[in-house]
Amino acid sequence: MTEVADQFTEERSGEVTRISHWIDGQRVEGESGRSGPVYNPALGVQTGEVDFASPEEIDRAVQAARRAFDSWRTVSLSRRTELFFRIRKLLDEHREDIAKFLTAEHGKVLSDAKGEVARGLEVIEYCCGIPELLKGDFSEQASTGIDVYSIRQPLGVVAGITPFNFPAMVPMWMWAPAIACGNCFLLKPSEKDPSASIYTAELLKEAGLPDGVFNVVHGDKVAVDSILEHPGIAAVSFVGSTPIARYVYETGTANGKRVQALGGAKNHMIVLPDADIDMAADAAVSAGYGSAGERCMAVSLLVAVGHAADDLVGAIQERLPKVKVGDGMDPDSEMGPLVTREHRDKVASYIDRGRDEGATVVADGRETAPEGDGFWLGVSLLDNVKPGMDVYKDEIFGPVLGITRVDTYDEAVDLVNENPYGNGVAIFTRDGGVARQFQFDVKAGMVGVNVPIPVPVAYYSFGGWKNSLFGDLHIYGPEGIQFYTRGKVVTSRWPDPATSKVDLGFPQTR
Ligand code: NAD
Repeated sequence: MTEVADQFTEERSGEVTRISHWIDGQRVEGESGRSGPVYNPALGVQTGEVDFASPEEIDRAVQAARRAFDSWRTVSLSRRTELFFRIRKLLDEHREDIAKFLTAEHGKVLSDAKGEVARGLEVIEYCCGIPELLKGDFSEQASTGIDVYSIRQPLGVVAGITPFNFPAMVPMWMWAPAIACGNCFLLKPSEKDPSASIYTAELLKEAGLPDGVFNVVHGDKVAVDSILEHPGIAAVSFVGSTPIARYVYETGTANGKRVQALGGAKNHMIVLPDADIDMAADAAVSAGYGSAGERCMAVSLLVAVGHAADDLVGAIQERLPKVKVGDGMDPDSEMGPLVTREHRDKVASYIDRGRDEGATVVADGRETAPEGDGFWLGVSLLDNVKPGMDVYKDEIFGPVLGITRVDTYDEAVDLVNENPYGNGVAIFTRDGGVARQFQFDVKAGMVGVNVPIPVPVAYYSFGGWKNSLFGDLHIYGPEGIQFYTRGKVVTSRWPDPATSKVDLGFPQTR
């Protein structure tokens, strides 16, 4: 185990670990005098104190990345590929260690954390094919004696700002394609669970990534604003809540940067009367309560059409008492705690709010929460949720699943299309024709047909519509490669003295 992984063991024993930045291939202790607490949510105790970067510290990281860029962009595609295979192997060997950081600071159960790492690794595997991904076009004899070809080049220093809910996978969505394309990278992870990023930095160094190509700076709004305003940063990828995504997009683009900013979600799962109700109930419970509902692709609202509703509520109710809530390190646990005490309290407040607004509380997670100081909440189910209620409109981001009853398919689709978010959506039906019509009709970026969490595989791109994405390009996959490169078209002629002459006219195709 590396130094950082050893620290993790100490964290479990109750010591408060200082979590510093990673700049130019080494740990750098913060000097701003500002920092924030990191908790183990299952124990409810502070385990870390993370340094918050000042604008000067952000600048130091940018300068390190800028210096590294001069040589990193010249590294051949075959050497980059070789390195990515080594990175893939090393991260794979340490996937359990990475997952343990996630469980310790985020709270998700270890099996889920390993799943997160696995999905991130798929993006790294995709990047192993970088020579193929960066291939340009070539047109021979576009004009007589003239060839035209296109190339894609890296942007320079680029930054990623990431949310608490996927502390390993979402950074991988960004740094892997960015670096494979020849950029140098600055990661500003969530201050709630920052350790996995530092551990990743150590592993990247061990795999042979040159110093300065990957840097980690921790912090809050001060660090984010410094990134958005720094003239040395060419592009910013952001994943987080919608208000901050909008702010990052507007501020970053106003400062001349390319920005992709992925925001929040309120993902609807439509269940038609012909659906297999047991399959739909299994999917709803898995996708609604997995990772304690703290997923941007979690199903947060079921739209039950016609007579599907009563059967569906009954089938979900049967399953709820069997969901095992507990410490993520316990192999029997299926759902962990919420990330912080404040977030748990906010999520729990929606149960009362739903009741006050007229929804039916079928299950109240406060009554089934485990004992102890952890940030616990059991699974909650609200029936008869109606558009206009806060529990319908807000992204609750916790284990509170709502059910809205409608009479027709058209009403269900209208609900999705009128929603300001457009991240994921799913339909459960046995009717292929209806499913095909749904994929045509629905206004969302990622659609599941009998699949509740349709996160695209690594060779497609991930992104929502409407308030779930600000910017033009989705993240990872082909659009990720596009985002981290810019195009250049070369028009070329080799000297041929036999045809050379002075011609002051505008060049015309011949
Ligand atoms: P968040 O918006 O609070 O934080 C995201 C990042 O922004 C963090 O690095 C944080 O430090 C920074 N930040 C927070 N407040 C800021 C401010 N005022 N100014 C500048 N920067 C600030 O999000 P979160 O709570 O960490 O993550 C949960 C949210 O992320 C949910 O809304 C979820 O839907 C969303 N999310 C979206 C996707 C997606 O792909 N669309 C994926 C994962 C999470």
